[in-house]
Amino acid sequence: MTAFSCRRCGACCRWPGCVKVTGEEADRIASFLGISPPEFIDRFTRLSPDRLHLSLLEKDDGACQWLSDAVPAACLIEPVKPRQCRDFPSKWNFPGWQKLCGGTFEETDGS
Ligand code: SF4
Ligand code: SF4
Repeated sequence: MTAFSCRRCGACCRWPGCVKVTGEEADRIASFLGISPPEFIDRFTRLSPDRLHLSLLEKDDGACQWLSDAVPAACLIEPVKPRQCRDFPSKWNFPGWQKLCGGTFEETDGS
């Protein structure tokens, strides 16, 4: 078996592009933050350019708004982060992703 070992470099949270948020994910994040779903959507999301889904807002430098400035990098909504974040790079990635991501797939003993 292999398991992905993330180095917490935060590079994937700084890449340009959308971090898609479903309605259920918005509900979970809002609950985690202690605010209502409409407030979360108003304050922390935008419509994606294709107008098909909501996306998390970015900071001025393009990084995700929920990326902390800590080293190593930390997601401020880690327990409820969107599936898009959870699934990279094990369930989705793109050609050349290894050049940008400091993590590696490592063999495990399967236990
Ligand atoms: S929600 Fe968290 S894991 Fe996802 S891009 Fe933002 S900071 Fe990174
Ligand atoms: S770019 Fe790779 S190693 Fe860096 S935080 Fe994202 S998944 Fe982890």
